Amino acid sequence: MTDLIDGNVHAANVRARTKVRAEAFAAAHGRKPRLDVVIVGNNPASRAYVNTKAKMAHETAIDGRLIELPETVSKEELLGVIAGLNADAGVDGILVQLPLPDHLDGQMMIDAIHPAKDVDGFHPMNVGKLFTASRIDPEAMLIPCTPLGSLLMLLDTVGKEGLSGKKAVVVGRSNIVGKPMAQLLLAYDCTVTIAHSRTKDLPAVCREADILVAAVGRPEMVKGDWIKDGAVVIDVGINRVPTEDGKGRIVGDVATNEAMGKASYITPVPGGVGKMTVACLLHNTIVAAEARVKG
Ligand code: NDP
Repeated sequence: MTDLIDGNVHAANVRARTKVRAEAFAAAHGRKPRLDVVIVGNNPASRAYVNTKAKMAHETAIDGRLIELPETVSKEELLGVIAGLNADAGVDGILVQLPLPDHLDGQMMIDAIHPAKDVDGFHPMNVGKLFTASRIDPEAMLIPCTPLGSLLMLLDTVGKEGLSGKKAVVVGRSNIVGKPMAQLLLAYDCTVTIAHSRTKDLPAVCREADILVAAVGRPEMVKGDWIKDGAVVIDVGINRVPTEDGKGRIVGDVATNEAMGKASYITPVPGGVGKMTVACLLHNTIVAAEARVKG
């Protein structure tokens, strides 16, 4: 018997808590917490993401603003926009939507964001804090949103004791998902393996996992017989696959149908981790806003 971990429910809870805090912030400081999202060019997927972020921000009593720049914006111009947002006392959170056009260096832009406003948690200062902290505190740290959302769902589902001493396998080693996810699981006392494209016998590695996180970007790559009986599976993947009607559909990195009956819990795609990513961005915005006014 496999239970679904419903991202909609978990995300609604995070957003509800964030909204209460955002309203209290506005009452105390005479302005809403503010998140500015910078988008460059017309990438349709990026547009869809930022529109969702702006809509959710408004619903959570956060002042979400969109700064749209043309595909041709220069490095200097974009750095200038970021510097302006860093200097603007009314801005609590800054997010530069990735990927950027080829002529712009995404890491350079992340490095330019003030660490206290880095609500994506990608700035080296925040990455360093995550990797050196003796205790994970999502109220005091800016933690990358997708791993944070995955962790919060795990904690709500199996609790700290359900993680401690467990063997966790994270498939994927990106800076935005795989590596911070592994670090979070390590901080909760899992024994962590990070797998990637060069890992030998990946199915056997996955079969060892009590906690299996797939963050690969390959549709339904993780098969049912890669999953240990009773494992908790977090499927981070968001992949569009073609359908006969031409509309396409979204699937994860795990063959969910095959996992049913093997895993004890699994996040569905869609309706799983993706919902938590946006909720955690709003959570990080209120954390940043509260920290800034405390000074
Ligand atoms: P990246 O492309 O940056 O990283 C993918 C990782 O998967 C790499 O480490 C790569 O290994 C590894 N990999 C690729 N192919 C294989 C393979 N055949 N076997 C084992 N490992 C492999 O992706 P992201 O981390 O940015 O995203 C991963 C997935 O999560 C994507 O589907 C993305 O859309 C989704 N995503 C979902 C979010 C959400 O909100 N739910 C947010 C962010 C991402 P190597 O390093 O060796 O190349």
